Amino acid sequence: MKAQVRIRGQVQGVGFRPFVWNLARELGLKGRVLNDAEGVLVFLGGDAIPDFLHRVEAEAPPLAQVDAVEVSDWAGVVPEGFEIAASGGPGAETRVTPDAATCPACLDEIRGDGRRAGYAFTNCTHCGPRFTIIEGLPYDRAQTTMGAFKMCGACRAEYEDPADRRFHAQPIACPDCGPRVWFEGDGTAAQVILAGGIVAVKGLGGFHLVCDATNAAAVALLRRRKRRPAKPLALMGTEDMVARLAAATPAEWSLLREPAAPIVLLAKGEPLPDGLAPGQSRLGWMLPYTPLHHLLISEVGRPLVMTSGNLSGEPQVIDNDEAREKLGGFADGFLMHDRDIARRLDDSVERVTEAGPMVLRRARGRVPGTFPLPAGFEDAPQVLAMGGQMKAAICLTKTGEALLGHHLGELDEALTWEAYRQALEDYRSLFDHKPEVAAVDLHEGYRATQAGMAMGLPVERVQHHHAHLASVMGENGWALDQGPIVGIVLDGLGLGSDGTIWGGEVLRGDYRGFERIGHLAPAALAGGDGASREPWRNLLVRLDQAGLADLADRVMTDKPRAVLRQAVAARVNAPLSSSAGRLFDAFSAALGLCVDRQSYEGEAAMALEALAEAAGDVAPYPFTLRDGVIDPVPMFRAWAEGRDTDAEAAKRFHAGLARAFAGIARAEVEAGRAAAVALSGGVLQNALLQDMLLDELDGLPVLLHHGVPANDGGLALGQALVAAARALPR
Ligand code: ZN
Ligand code: ZN
Ligand code: FE
Repeated sequence: MKAQVRIRGQVQGVGFRPFVWNLARELGLKGRVLNDAEGVLVFLGGDAIPDFLHRVEAEAPPLAQVDAVEVSDWAGVVPEGFEIAASGGPGAETRVTPDAATCPACLDEIRGDGRRAGYAFTNCTHCGPRFTIIEGLPYDRAQTTMGAFKMCGACRAEYEDPADRRFHAQPIACPDCGPRVWFEGDGTAAQVILAGGIVAVKGLGGFHLVCDATNAAAVALLRRRKRRPAKPLALMGTEDMVARLAAATPAEWSLLREPAAPIVLLAKGEPLPDGLAPGQSRLGWMLPYTPLHHLLISEVGRPLVMTSGNLSGEPQVIDNDEAREKLGGFADGFLMHDRDIARRLDDSVERVTEAGPMVLRRARGRVPGTFPLPAGFEDAPQVLAMGGQMKAAICLTKTGEALLGHHLGELDEALTWEAYRQALEDYRSLFDHKPEVAAVDLHEGYRATQAGMAMGLPVERVQHHHAHLASVMGENGWALDQGPIVGIVLDGLGLGSDGTIWGGEVLRGDYRGFERIGHLAPAALAGGDGASREPWRNLLVRLDQAGLADLADRVMTDKPRAVLRQAVAARVNAPLSSSAGRLFDAFSAALGLCVDRQSYEGEAAMALEALAEAAGDVAPYPFTLRDGVIDPVPMFRAWAEGRDTDAEAAKRFHAGLARAFAGIARAEVEAGRAAAVALSGGVLQNALLQDMLLDELDGLPVLLHHGVPANDGGLALGQALVAAARALPR
């Protein structure tokens, strides 16, 4: 019996060839295995081929992701034994794996008394740095920031032994040959943290500012120094600490323990200082994901605040000198090491909803993972999609796959813009990408749009909410010609096809185009950008619209109402918008949450969701629907009657919005004009709203985001798919 086996997916740089080698030898099979441009290729001779095919998928190494195992005939000569052959030609090893948290075997070594006892850079084929240390391809040590460290004899022996779990582990290291760690400050890092100080810790994708999460004064000090009044701070805890201090469900535990080790939003358990996440019902937790984290947290013995080490608005610091210079004013000491960070990556942020996991910020551990393009996109051109202005991320398509880049941040900031331009170059060379089309948002004020238009490529302009819709369709493998879908896109702000600002939309369409069949009744964004920062502005406008101006006068006595009303009446710096995000802001201000100013994007909406979670069963507030326009006037009037507690009101608001939007979508599907419903847009990071929409849409096929952010971090995937679809023949 002979066969050729092709394995596709994330199968390079994860120990797949030695795994195949061991498996084949155990089964008495002869032949060879090699990497090539399409993945891993195996040639097999022997009786146990069926066993092999079963086990190669079932027992694949922890970091592997097998997308396909394809078997075909092999006419070659079966060799004497089984060997790992040289790579098959140029471009053969172009796949890069995301960084992975320290594996249990390495952790045992760090805690044991072998040659890697207490060693902060222990890693193996199943764990350790990848994307954050790569400087070029193919992925081998010389092309990483480990190239500067010459492997010792003991490490080399492991590296060259296919039976060792460090076979071809490029960042392999030990205390004799690898990077070292040191502390700049008085005493040790743990002593400074236990004394209430703040330490800058060099991690995998950048520096963190770290303090004792149980010490309210230390948390307050960190907020003061960083000038970050309210934005939630991420926490790191051992499994024991998380079990005690948070209330994680089994699904949340498995997400925490994934090799990606994301920050997961968890319900609170035993009390911790309020200052960690004022007004929020959840805290973001992650497990230690590098040996250095494990060593530090076991010495401190307490959960740690781990917030990104940066100046306000700037990207995270990655270089030692830059850290000393920029973080010197924040930190009482520096836990440093001498392995360079090739690429800045924030921690990923995720949550688990009743409908599964949801990525809010896609970065370390998730990139450069790719998504398969849906059926029908096989002949798509190589597209470079530029993303939006907020939560910028780019997307590249090539040979049936989409590479969605990492979260970069807001492009208004000069250094983030610089990072964006670097990422463009970086991903293009890593993915060996030769773009044929650039895809951009309609908004010409976005720097990403301008950059795309200046690329010298044909440009495809994609409406913002159409891109959100295409993004969730693509993530769910909706085929190119599977027919129209109805999308509920609840978002902040995005430029509409009619030149007004959209954001609470029901679209019916496919990848190529769409129709706007429903939307929230528009309201003025009083003060332009100011309306996004100051929730009360939206409340004033909505109350006035609802004929509740006298109520607005009573609840907003200290605000410049007359000036604002004049501006709205005269249409001065008060563009109309159907934004769902601003309606959330308005209603959160109505309930006294975050009235004056949001200190970070989404603060008001998150507070409203947290408040609503506290309420029991309620009836939805009424919204009217006329000619596809969803009007919140009756909702504000019902609230103004004053019969509901704030928590009930918050929940009735969510329920009413869900009912109104789902109603339009259901009618489209039931009339046969759409085959399914899709949910996207930044407002759908709200798990309660998603659950309520799913209840209202019960019985219909619904597409949701899981691995692609519903917010603008997922926009570029949709842009790429729309541009690709338009380039393909019908
Ligand atoms: Zn390991
Ligand atoms: Zn060594
Ligand atoms: Fe958006």
